[in-house]
Amino acid sequence: MLASKTFIPKIKDIPQDAEIISHQLMLRSGMIRKVASGIYNWLPLGLIVLKKIENVVREELNNIGAQEIFMPMVQPKKLWNESNRWGKFGPELLRIKDRHDRDFCLGPTHEEVITDLVKNNINSYKSLPLTLYQIQTKFRDEIRPRYGVMRGREFLMKDAYSFHMNEECLNQTYKDFRAAYRKILKRLELEFKVVKADSGAIGGDKSEEFHVLAENGEDVLAVSDSSEIAINSELLLEKDQDPSSLVGKEFPEGGKIELIKGIEVGHIFQLGQVYSESMKLSLQDANSNEVNPYMGCYGIGISRMVAASIEQNNDEFGIAWPKGLAPIQINVIDLTDNADGSAIKFYNDVEKSNFRVMLDDRDERFGKKIKDSELIGIPLNIIIGKYLKNDGLIEVCPRRGTKDLIKPEELNGYIAKFFQES
Ligand code: ATP
Ligand code: MG
Repeated sequence: MLASKTFIPKIKDIPQDAEIISHQLMLRSGMIRKVASGIYNWLPLGLIVLKKIENVVREELNNIGAQEIFMPMVQPKKLWNESNRWGKFGPELLRIKDRHDRDFCLGPTHEEVITDLVKNNINSYKSLPLTLYQIQTKFRDEIRPRYGVMRGREFLMKDAYSFHMNEECLNQTYKDFRAAYRKILKRLELEFKVVKADSGAIGGDKSEEFHVLAENGEDVLAVSDSSEIAINSELLLEKDQDPSSLVGKEFPEGGKIELIKGIEVGHIFQLGQVYSESMKLSLQDANSNEVNPYMGCYGIGISRMVAASIEQNNDEFGIAWPKGLAPIQINVIDLTDNADGSAIKFYNDVEKSNFRVMLDDRDERFGKKIKDSELIGIPLNIIIGKYLKNDGLIEVCPRRGTKDLIKPEELNGYIAKFFQES
């Protein structure tokens, strides 16, 4: 890609409502633009990162045997009546009418649609267990959208649903998801905690959240040095009690309570039979007994994860992406005004690698080019300039780490080695 032709609009003045660093950096580096409160355009750089996360999630879910489908965003009231949630959900559910005056909503979650799908299309216990998932836009009319895509109204979620004839089977799949989520977060190089949680409006009785640790997290987690497990402080607090009152008290699993901040990026629930009962999904088991299948549901906030990663990976110069997640991996900076075509030659060469490469061919000074590269968070800069002319060397300049001068024929080896090290 050529910097001169790529849509990366940058801004200098940060809007008032961009309170946290990830929101500011996503705006400054041209990843997103606001359309309305909690509703955003994803621009090329933002979308590349979003898709990368999406693909890691997809691969790990496929690995545990989940199958991808795609459900509609617009859902009929009829299904929400069956689950008794049309009345319960409150103003977060954006309700709309079609031209025939029929009621619909924009899907905040998809338990109703999927339970109906399985009810109408599975007629033998032999087809279970079954795990389906989608990666799709959700809409929740949040009371306080904020922090950019961290708490949007429209956002991208991976939601998965599993169906089982008994609880042991649900337990197994729940464990598989827990393991898959750990792998996903490790691959994305995020520092995280698995957290005992409240199952909230979705219902059911067993649930855990996955929190990325960050100062700007909205959730307060209780941890102790003698336990691997964290607990969402909400679970330990009485009404109107402040989390700080927990510090130093006995942690349920041993040790003394300390508090840390987290961003909820994933949530796994054992729903049990709540939806299969209310929506009358039932199957005969091997002994001809009618059983309401046991269900699990498993969410990951894909768009929130982009912001969460930036919260963990930034410095005074901008975003410092993990190498794999960076939207552009290599930046070829031309300081020769393309006088001899050497920068294009290097660019064409490097582009044959598996990495996404940009040639900064803009008519700008070096200082501006390197500043922009640091803001966007490109892990490796290759500078084609005076060295090449004088002594036949090119400069390699990592986002983090030390600069070096190398011979042109060493470049491919250098790049391969650079991206192997994390
Ligand atoms: P929160 O407590 O942050 O409001 P939630 O518990 O209501 O989230 P879930 O129903 O568990 O959310 O949804 C699954 C995942 O979707 C969450 O773990 C989170 O990563 C993501 N998510 C939820 N709400 C939003 C939002 N408003 N904007 C962006 N991502 C969201
Ligand atoms: Mg949740």
